[in-house]
Amino acid sequence: MDFAEYIRKFDAHTAKYIPNRADWTPSDHAVYGPSDYFRMDPKEANDLRYKAVRYQLDRHFKSNRTYRTYCEELKFDPASIRASDDLDKVPVVSTDFFKTYPTGRDFALWLANVYTGELPKIHIKSKEPTHDEVIKSFNDAGMAVAYSSGTSGRHTFIPRDMKAFFSNEYALSKGALTMFYPRWGPDMHSFLLMPNPFKTNLFAGRLGTVMYDIMKDVEVALDREVNTETVRQSMIKGDTLVGKITKYVVSRTTQKSIDRIVDWIGQRSKDGSRIALVGVPFMLHYVLNELKEKGKSYDIGDRTMILTGGGWKAHENERIPEERFRKDVEELLGVRPEHCLDMYGMVEGNGWMLQCPEGHYFHIPTTYLHPMVLDDEGNNIGYGKYGRFAFLDGSMNAYPGFIVTNDKVKMLEHCPHCDRPGPVLESAITRIPGKEVRGCGEEMRKMMAADVGGD
Ligand SMILES: [Zn+2]
Repeated sequence: MDFAEYIRKFDAHTAKYIPNRADWTPSDHAVYGPSDYFRMDPKEANDLRYKAVRYQLDRHFKSNRTYRTYCEELKFDPASIRASDDLDKVPVVSTDFFKTYPTGRDFALWLANVYTGELPKIHIKSKEPTHDEVIKSFNDAGMAVAYSSGTSGRHTFIPRDMKAFFSNEYALSKGALTMFYPRWGPDMHSFLLMPNPFKTNLFAGRLGTVMYDIMKDVEVALDREVNTETVRQSMIKGDTLVGKITKYVVSRTTQKSIDRIVDWIGQRSKDGSRIALVGVPFMLHYVLNELKEKGKSYDIGDRTMILTGGGWKAHENERIPEERFRKDVEELLGVRPEHCLDMYGMVEGNGWMLQCPEGHYFHIPTTYLHPMVLDDEGNNIGYGKYGRFAFLDGSMNAYPGFIVTNDKVKMLEHCPHCDRPGPVLESAITRIPGKEVRGCGEEMRKMMAADVGGD
């Protein structure tokens, strides 16, 4: 199947995510238009990105009072952005901002202030609602508010609407399937090494809903409700009684999950079906260890794709060596490194960086995402030097997706290993010293690791 046909098939399966073409905004053109985010002519990509960011900048400045006030304090005028080269001047918001939420009904007001545009009518019954109750009220009204968490136990809350959430899921899966070309097919059986996406508002968990549209069937590693309190209790240090109980209840299921995944791989290896393993690396790391212990191995390399994301911690002070991991995958499952790819992204944006099969560098989808690497003064230092990752998300309609992160990265103008033209990030991404550890891998690990030699 040629690539255009492959993407047409993907578009047919994700039709509900794609807005009516006649109504496309510049953001939609940047997300839904390109068939390959990573091989587009750089001039065309720059043009799409500039128009998308420009469009969102005007919208957020006009309709989001919080962002407009921020811009005015910095004496920034959107009219000063006249070309692609000016984009570095757009004021970025720290990821820390999204952790500054209050409690109760004020939390609902806070979400409304972060959101750009008219919210649907939201009914909150309780006088002192919990964060989960507030999110549920928003999402019952048609929003897709999601959160992530760090080791401080403080959450990051992001008020997406369904349009923003759909464009995220679409961009993620399209980027991933592009890198796996031609391996994906809708007849695939998949195991999601994550919580059930329909039972959580945890961002990384919820993202899994797209799997149900592009795969034949989906199994999940953690099939129970996961709420902000489950995650918070798992992330924070120190053992309160509630914390202990929460950890115990969740972690009991971990060994069972690993056994289930091992059995599932065994069955798939017999029935010859095509499979996808998607989720946090540490779960697969445990699965590989289990196979080693049992002296088992499979040869499913001709019909398997493995997509990981969420960080590489195995234990509190141990990082899984990625190359060793890919070697184990090849030895124990027969899956070659080019079919075992990692991705990088975060709750604060729709940008998904996907590793290329040739070199495992993270390629940046520059049709809708403007990447920057900032020094301590906030200047863009460009390529080849370590700094703080920042981006302007031209796809983000729900809030100003102009973000500076606490991730330390190095960006290169071209990939050293493949001929895709756009910029890449080196795969060793770490946190800025002094900033809490976070990411969906860490959330899952903390929830599930206690039982299997974890913390
Ligand atoms: Zn590459």
